[in-house]
Amino acid sequence: MYRVLARKYRPQTFADLIGQEVLVRTLTNAFASGRIAHAFLLTGIRGIGKTTTARIIARGLNCTGADGNGEATTTPCGVCANCIAIAEDRHVDVIEMDAASNTGVDNMRDLIDSVRYAPTNARYKVYIIDEVHMLSKSAFNAILKTLEEPPPHVKFIFATTEIRKIPVTIISRCQRFDLKRVEMDELSTHLVNVAKREEITLPEDCATLIAAAAEGSVRDSLSLLDRAIAMHTDAAGTVDIKAESVRDMLGLADKTQTFRLMELIFNGKTDEALTAAQTLHHQGADSAMLLSDMLDITHYLTRIVVAPALSVNLNYSPAEQALAKDMAASLSIPALTRAWQILTKGADELRHSNHASATLEMILVRLGYASALPAPAEIVRALQQGSAMPTGGSTRPPSAGAAPSSSASASTHAIGTSSAAQSTPTGSTVMQLGNTAAATKIEPQPLAEAHSFLDVVQLFETHREPILLSHLMNDMRLVHFAVGRIEVKPTAHIAPDVPARLARHLREWTGESWNIILSPHAEQAEPSIREQRAAIAKQARDYATSHPKIQAALEVFPDATVIDFIPNKPTN
Ligand SMILES: [Zn+2]
Repeated sequence: MYRVLARKYRPQTFADLIGQEVLVRTLTNAFASGRIAHAFLLTGIRGIGKTTTARIIARGLNCTGADGNGEATTTPCGVCANCIAIAEDRHVDVIEMDAASNTGVDNMRDLIDSVRYAPTNARYKVYIIDEVHMLSKSAFNAILKTLEEPPPHVKFIFATTEIRKIPVTIISRCQRFDLKRVEMDELSTHLVNVAKREEITLPEDCATLIAAAAEGSVRDSLSLLDRAIAMHTDAAGTVDIKAESVRDMLGLADKTQTFRLMELIFNGKTDEALTAAQTLHHQGADSAMLLSDMLDITHYLTRIVVAPALSVNLNYSPAEQALAKDMAASLSIPALTRAWQILTKGADELRHSNHASATLEMILVRLGYASALPAPAEIVRALQQGSAMPTGGSTRPPSAGAAPSSSASASTHAIGTSSAAQSTPTGSTVMQLGNTAAATKIEPQPLAEAHSFLDVVQLFETHREPILLSHLMNDMRLVHFAVGRIEVKPTAHIAPDVPARLARHLREWTGESWNIILSPHAEQAEPSIREQRAAIAKQARDYATSHPKIQAALEVFPDATVIDFIPNKPTN
């Protein structure tokens, strides 16, 4: 039987645990010196390996070695009865519970009661409590009493994604480990190795793409690899994984087009940028995702300008990296910082907008005007020298004249005067600069709202949850939507914990509780988001194909096909 990779390659020893060297070293020292804590607290993002680490600690605590005489160790033998039973999740003295489903104080009372009894087979009774931040206040109090006077034969291992929700009184009684996101290079090497052991060739660019999407989570990366393998296996069982379709699977928009869009904006060609954005929209690109890509690109360009050595970025194809280098050559830090500010503010607006594509257009217009502005330092210099105002602020100021040492207030004053507005060909845009500056004010992050299934999908796009997003877009057809309750018909296998994970995120982002119901037998359901987007793209193509001019062209070039449709710009 095929075993999912994340399970098959779940680490069994600390040596298998990639990217967590600090934790391993600290634990090894503690075990060696016999100063083993009564309670451990493991924190880190979902999928980073908290539960796996907890089980390895439990084995290390109870391993008796192959000869049965071993002490607690950070290199559990894997062959003694304790090691085997724990690995198979059936050791009577290793009690694992998920606080997300046992928030009641009653369960906790049962647990605390059982603490008094000595272990049956093992050295220590080990209580692993996952998502411990979900415990009720009284449950925490019950645990605290035990932690204040822990019986010598009891160890607690707590795991949480949200350390801030754990009472300080608990934290202070635990040895705390912050599990780190695994570096992309390390993750990508790991994926190639796993693939090799599965006798599958995983091209390096595919491994990089998957590692980037997994954002430091080994488990997510292996789940994505699973999907990639399943998608690229033909009827004969041959696996041929291609970057192109991995990109597709991950829902990555073609970044080259986004780079071109940015280039148009920085060159002040706002009208062409709007057309380019519309094309991307017709191809099914999502506004929030596009904006997020633009932020990434702005950040990347800034890095190149600051330190050209940082231009290597595996998130981008070699062609995209070359393009970025070209673009960065004519960009200045002030222009990039301004773009960043407008985009971050825009991302927030987009989250609360019911008109995503219109909002995106407004953001692009703002960006275009801002980049047509001279940098403040240039305005000041021009005013001081009494020369004509410079234009095209996105370009780097000539290096001969470094920014004058005038104060910020001087430049503010200069912008406000009517002489500045008259002497610049883009007078109205000077006023825009003031708005932009106001936009940099940091506002508290409000809770998101989700009034439709599409809103929900957008939230998972914005928060970059590739696996859940992929389920939402590809494997679910909407049966019924109400705020707090989503009923869907699954079209592919969905792991049993997926609805709970979806609900947990939604509650975190919206502040409301959500219930996700899988109704495999529902009779009526909307097409999945992916199906809908494909239909829209086809409609645009059909419309274009039916256009008389294109029909005429098709008569002349009968072998041609319409692959893209750029709507006319409005006529003047
Ligand atoms: Zn052992």
